[in-house]
Amino acid sequence: MIVKPLKTNDLHPCDNCGGRIAPFFYRLTISFRQLMINPTAVNEVLGTAQILGGNLFLGSVMSPDRDATIEMPGYQIDKDLFLCSDCVMGVTRDQAFTIRPLDWMIESENEADDEL
Ligand SMILES: [Zn+2]
Repeated sequence: MIVKPLKTNDLHPCDNCGGRIAPFFYRLTISFRQLMINPTAVNEVLGTAQILGGNLFLGSVMSPDRDATIEMPGYQIDKDLFLCSDCVMGVTRDQAFTIRPLDWMIESENEADDEL
């Protein structure tokens, strides 16, 4: 997967420590979605595997090629996080890197409210 290059206006300090990212930094792209398991698709594969002696690989090859998950509408958040070299290397131990999907959901709701 090729990630789109950034423009100057897209650059901002490290998302973990707020420190400088120059000259090298790391880009972490996260796609946050809620998925539901499609029980019909999973049962088709498991049932076929059972008929074929419990071989899950054969079961997946021999059953209809349906997706095992369904993407739910609602929160569809794509985040581009920048991490400085120190945070990636673990040099700044006082601020552990965390991923905060709940904060992103709130941000996304606020942005939707602003558009109204
Ligand atoms: Zn950092």
